[in-house]
Amino acid sequence: MTNMIDPFGRGVHYLRVSVTDRCDFRCVYCMSEDMSFLPKKEVLSLEELDRLCSAFIRKGVRKLRLTGGEPLVRRNIMSLIRSLGRHLESGALEDLTLTTNGSQLSRFADELVDCGVKRINVSVDTLDPDKFKKITRWGNLDKVLAGLKAATKAGLHVKINTVALKNFNDGEIDQMLRWCGDNGYDLTLIETMPMGEITGDRNDQYLPLSEVRRDLDSRWTLTDIDYKTGGPARYVHVGETGAKLGMITPMTHNFCESCNRVRLTCTGTLYMCLGQDDAADLRSPLRASEADGLLDAAIDEAIGRKPKGHDFIIDRSTKAPSQKRHMSVTGG
Ligand code: SAM
Ligand code: SF4
Repeated sequence: MTNMIDPFGRGVHYLRVSVTDRCDFRCVYCMSEDMSFLPKKEVLSLEELDRLCSAFIRKGVRKLRLTGGEPLVRRNIMSLIRSLGRHLESGALEDLTLTTNGSQLSRFADELVDCGVKRINVSVDTLDPDKFKKITRWGNLDKVLAGLKAATKAGLHVKINTVALKNFNDGEIDQMLRWCGDNGYDLTLIETMPMGEITGDRNDQYLPLSEVRRDLDSRWTLTDIDYKTGGPARYVHVGETGAKLGMITPMTHNFCESCNRVRLTCTGTLYMCLGQDDAADLRSPLRASEADGLLDAAIDEAIGRKPKGHDFIIDRSTKAPSQKRHMSVTGG
């Protein structure tokens, strides 16, 4: 049982941690090409991240996801993952997982399994190498596909995350479904969220998943299932492949009532809601004392003001993002 209960009676069981704001890709919906990153001294050390995660686990977090930026490009990241694995062994933590762009998976898949990681999310928006280069700016599809093979070989269960983008991959969703079915991957489609300044206009990219669903329904046997993770995804079973298809629709569907999660940045800032600015600084209490009393109190205080829900909207008149921070800060 968690002892982190927010003012709306929701228990917090799930912590997502952005371990770095840096990335070896520059996906067009996520980052601008000339991103400036945090000075190293502001970023928590791996030991500090371990201490923070462990405090949350002690308080009742059962599921921990490492994300970024790209988690696997942080130097020595496997030492943190190995260390966090001790909470799986003790039974305090049920699930240790990560969201990755897959570029480093060939190197790390076996070691991840050895640390107790059982499943990972890998982001792939297209299976066309040229389009992949276009959307990630710096990515290489072959490298990611090799990483995916290594992940499956190592025994990791893979879920593919695909951001649905108008005039980009809307014609490829069938192919993605088939590819995922053939390889034993689940698939989750994500609507673009208005987070952070990017080059270009988000209104051009926004593709409502309600449209995608209507279109898929004409060719695939999709059955709503009651599979819930406490997160924003709604799931359907794909009759033809036997796989799960999730849809994350922050813009068209309100999913806040069952929210069980909070998000920590690599500077130790805790966001109680992805779509709100309110945040709590945990780095100061962490660094102020070697004992965890101050930190525990700061976490309790933060959970005590977790907001009821988000208010995403792409502002059509100003084209400004409703959230100034980039997704790479909180990791999605
Ligand atoms: N680098 C890793 C990756 O790409 O999987 C982890 C971090 S990335 C920020 C996490 C997820 O957020 C990815 O699936 C990415 O496609 C998604 N994402 C990034 N910016 C987004 C946006 N503005 N709207 C919706 N999804 C976004
Ligand atoms: Fe990097 Fe992931 Fe953002 Fe793409 S979505 S730029 S891979 S952090």
